[in-house]
Amino acid sequence: MHTPATTPELADSEGQKTSLPVLGAGVPAGTATGGPVPAPPRGHHTGSHGPKIDYELILDCVHCGLCTASCPTYVETGNEADSPRGRIYLMRQVIDGALKLDDDVKQHLDLCLNCRACETACPSGVQYGRLIEPFREHMAEVEPGRQTQSLNALQRFLLFHVFPYRWANRLSLAPARLMQWSGADWLLKKTGADRLIPKSFRSMKDMLPDLKPHYGRLPEVLPAEGKKRARVALFLGCVADALYPRTNLNTARVLQKNGCEVWIPRNQACCGALHYHAAEEWPARDFAAKNCSAFGADDAARFAGVDAVVTNAAGCGFQLKDYAHMMAGTPQAGAAARLQAKVRDISEFLVELGPVKPTHPVPVRATYHDACHLRHAQQIYKQPRQLLEMIPGLELVPLPESELCCGAAGSYNLTQPEMATRLGDRKAANIRDTKARAVFTGNVGCLMQITRHLKQLDPGIWCGHPVDALWAGYSGELPAELR
Ligand code: SF4
Ligand code: SF4
Repeated sequence: MHTPATTPELADSEGQKTSLPVLGAGVPAGTATGGPVPAPPRGHHTGSHGPKIDYELILDCVHCGLCTASCPTYVETGNEADSPRGRIYLMRQVIDGALKLDDDVKQHLDLCLNCRACETACPSGVQYGRLIEPFREHMAEVEPGRQTQSLNALQRFLLFHVFPYRWANRLSLAPARLMQWSGADWLLKKTGADRLIPKSFRSMKDMLPDLKPHYGRLPEVLPAEGKKRARVALFLGCVADALYPRTNLNTARVLQKNGCEVWIPRNQACCGALHYHAAEEWPARDFAAKNCSAFGADDAARFAGVDAVVTNAAGCGFQLKDYAHMMAGTPQAGAAARLQAKVRDISEFLVELGPVKPTHPVPVRATYHDACHLRHAQQIYKQPRQLLEMIPGLELVPLPESELCCGAAGSYNLTQPEMATRLGDRKAANIRDTKARAVFTGNVGCLMQITRHLKQLDPGIWCGHPVDALWAGYSGELPAELR
């Protein structure tokens, strides 16, 4: 971090030393070179050449530091510039022209997981996501492709041209599936021969969970079991459907069991999150437009027959719930707002509907990890726990630091592997310390990341989705990992 010689070291609210000048009570706003920068009036928008940020949102931060302890990168590095307050300060300094957008500044902003834990912690209601996202878009405009420049050509190809497509994911996983099912993967590891595989390819292979057979193609409409209580559209996701097909199947069955007719729109696409978080706005908007039409949201009368659009992936759910903002000013703005209004996480939807109680015991000590895009971005944390606690025999124990990011964060694992590993190890150690035999979480990225780190620390602990446990409670079919 670029720190001017004149900058004093200050202590934040947690007593940590900071390497940035901290704005706040008794500390005047200043530039990196020590000179005061008069704050533009509230309501001022940053210029057409800078990030498209409402300056008023920056001024919402009163520099109290109450967010720092909840920030995973600050917790790991202890550096003020890796905290929410520090990052807001850096963005403001750059916008004010007091600080150059140099490599140091970029590095601190790149290290942010966009997990939004700071938004949950902030008593002043700072909308951090509305700052970092346009700021990153600006960085991508100034330097196209920089967000993913640490990736090699294969990783970039997979990220943008394979991961967002369900069928391409399934096809691309065929060799990995063959290696796992034939035992070749185990043999390579056992003999150390996997060291011959290129590192970037090996690290992606190691991220894969145990791959299960896919459920195939479900009918477009699945009937409700018993009295029909709702008609829902199911969002399948792309990576999630290929890596965790059983969870999608269980979601459909759980919905049927709860009296829902389940419509699975054929032409649905990726939610757009993979592109959006890599600051590739327009491909993300194309996906959103496709979904507006696949789910029928472009026809208000037809869409009125859908009670909810249900997803089991926190990251996708959050992206779908941001469609109105993402599509503002486009011809699909109205459809995007209609679609967004009906999007529900599966746990949120079931609790609103009044869930049917499971009757079969699932005798396991379990814990729950809060996916950031559920806990912080959607404020959903009670509902998944409520569903798990309904299951007979399941003992739910608290997880220390359950709200701290596990390091998955979309493509963060690929772009910031070191911090992702530190956070993954920390999460796995906390889970092991609960002495639980299973950990549940509501997002595909977290499932992969936690599974991978638990495999190294304690392979006896299984990581699953709450709907997997719920379906076991409805059907009496325990997942093989819990038998
Ligand atoms: S983001 Fe919120 S909690 Fe953090 S320093 Fe600013 S006002 Fe305080
Ligand atoms: S989004 Fe997460 S990583 Fe980024 S500043 Fe906020 S708490 Fe820290």
